[in-house]
Amino acid sequence: MSRVPACPLCDTDGGQVLWRDSFCRVVWVEDACYPGFCRVILDAHVKEMTDLASSDRMRLMETVFTVEAAVREVARPDKINLASLGNVVPHVHWHVIPRWRDDRHFPDAVWAVPRREGAIANPMAHADIRSRLRDRLAALLD
Ligand SMILES: [Zn+2]
Repeated sequence: MSRVPACPLCDTDGGQVLWRDSFCRVVWVEDACYPGFCRVILDAHVKEMTDLASSDRMRLMETVFTVEAAVREVARPDKINLASLGNVVPHVHWHVIPRWRDDRHFPDAVWAVPRREGAIANPMAHADIRSRLRDRLAALLD
């Protein structure tokens, strides 16, 4: 599949890889406020979902939904946000964002101006969430 130099998602993994195949990868987004935040990144430089063949769209979304299920199970958030923007990096990727009622931005998007300071009251360490998520994704996606 095509790659474009100077695109951060072609040049780098774009985060710590939790799972990958030849089609896409799931990366951990290191963010103290959102433990479990992942991105599903297509392994080709494609700008829009509608640039993909229908079967590839379905394949990518199945992966996104599987990641959503794994994040819900492991991080136990109050809500999941799915987002595909690509304004800054026009390379198809989906954000899977666990949200808590006491997180910095709730109920706004995580890219909005924060409403409060401090981390959520989540008893589970980030490293535990990351490790469990990696195991869960392997079980669900391999
Ligand atoms: Zn790219």
